[in-house]
Amino acid sequence: MPENISNKYDAVVIGGGIAGQETALNLADMDYKVLLVEKELSIGGKMIQLSKVFPTLDCAACITTPKMSETARHPNITLMLNTDVIETVKTNGHFDITLNIRPRYVDEALCTGCQQCEWVCPKVVEDSYNSNMVGRKAISIPFSLANPKIAAIDMEQCLHCKKCEKVCVPKAIDYNMQPKRVNVEATSVIVSTGFNLFKPKNKPQYGYGKYPNVIDAMQMDRLIAPTRPYNSLLRPGDGKVPDNIAYILCTGSRDSSIENAMGCSAECSNNPICSQICCMYSIKQAQLLMGALPLADITIYYMDIRAFGKGYEEFYQQAKSMGVNFIKGKVAKVTPKEDNSGNLILRYEDVATGKLKEVKHDLVVLSVGVLPNSGIVKTFTNQKLELDDQRFIKQVDELVSPSLTSIEGVFVAGTAAGPKDIPDSILSAGSAASEAASYIKRFSN
Ligand SMILES: Cc1cc2nc3c(=O)[nH]c(=O)nc-3n(C[C@H](O)[C@H](O)[C@H](O)COP(=O)(O)OP(=O)(O)OC[C@H]3O[C@@H](n4cnc5c(N)ncnc54)[C@H](O)[C@@H]3O)c2cc1C
Repeated sequence: MPENISNKYDAVVIGGGIAGQETALNLADMDYKVLLVEKELSIGGKMIQLSKVFPTLDCAACITTPKMSETARHPNITLMLNTDVIETVKTNGHFDITLNIRPRYVDEALCTGCQQCEWVCPKVVEDSYNSNMVGRKAISIPFSLANPKIAAIDMEQCLHCKKCEKVCVPKAIDYNMQPKRVNVEATSVIVSTGFNLFKPKNKPQYGYGKYPNVIDAMQMDRLIAPTRPYNSLLRPGDGKVPDNIAYILCTGSRDSSIENAMGCSAECSNNPICSQICCMYSIKQAQLLMGALPLADITIYYMDIRAFGKGYEEFYQQAKSMGVNFIKGKVAKVTPKEDNSGNLILRYEDVATGKLKEVKHDLVVLSVGVLPNSGIVKTFTNQKLELDDQRFIKQVDELVSPSLTSIEGVFVAGTAAGPKDIPDSILSAGSAASEAASYIKRFSN
């Protein structure tokens, strides 16, 4: 962040996923001054992790990286990354926001993104962008498509060997960098903090975390992405090419049986709602897998297929005609085959026949559901930002003005208000930007 940053904005957008970027760009194009606050080291949200998108199978990065560049370079948008919102107080109609910028230990103004530091760093840490399936260095650019392309040190893992400092030509490394508190004033706030994914360990009967060839859908999206961690599609347990893959839909959604599951917080207990994206992203992955592994068998175990959007039903029918096997069945349990092959036995009730069946697969993908990410409400201290029954940000006028929240001047965009796919997240961002624009205009007159 530049030192001479202004502290007055027309809008502060919290969360730099596709919804936050779209909201910020819409407002900035109307000549409003926008501050985009993102807790991670890069903007992009979950979309920048994806392979391709349903139902067109366009490359996700090809769509989202131009938007990320536009957001980062727009003269009316200031980015504040690696930043937490500490408090938002509404005073005399405007918002006083306290932010904490966590140190990167690399000077943003000096780093050229050359990656020399990364090559000499001896410490390998988990790579969350690749769902921890591979490692990255303790000093690194967070991922190849990150924006901005600036390195950061994971200080908890750093060995303090100073090798990075020695090779850094522009002298950007600063081990003594401190967190920085910043106060800003804004006329409006847009919450676009997105969603969390169901943690599949909270459904222990499916064996995630216990059997290495049980993975979740974000891991699969990474495995088939153009920026994937391995050159070909390999199952994590032993590096074999899988040829009989199962998908279990509704893992952690439309499910009232997870209330007392191990370590399950209030936000992932009894999640009765449909996540709206899992059927479609599983069908997308199945089609991409048929292309990558033409001889593989792919079976999708489902309760109902919900293909509600434009072109979605056709996309589902296309998967069927390609040979993806759809079984209406309730999966009870996944266990390892007792021959040390790494293969798995899936036990399910076949809804068509009412019979219990057991089938062997060599890779099981859990199509995990969408959960709220509502921690931000605690930072609104003198007025209550309300949640709905499922703990998403409450839309007080859901049918007519879907971006209005319980606080006048605070708007919601994207999946912060509930499960959505990318087109609907973008639509909701447009709605939030236009509601915010008319609010700012009214407020300024
Ligand atoms: C496996 C998988 C595959 C998918 N495939 C498709 C597909 O093919 N097609 C499709 O249309 N949709 C797909 N989706 C859905 C798509 O990912 C979402 O629709 C989209 O990411 C929603 O964007 P968003 O900006 O609302 O939320 P997010 O992408 O979650 O972005 C939220 C942003 O806010 C930031 N943030 C969170 N909390 C804070 C905070 N307190 N302060 C500051 N910043 C914060 C986050 O770091 C993040 O950058 C898929 C989802 C998954 C899980």
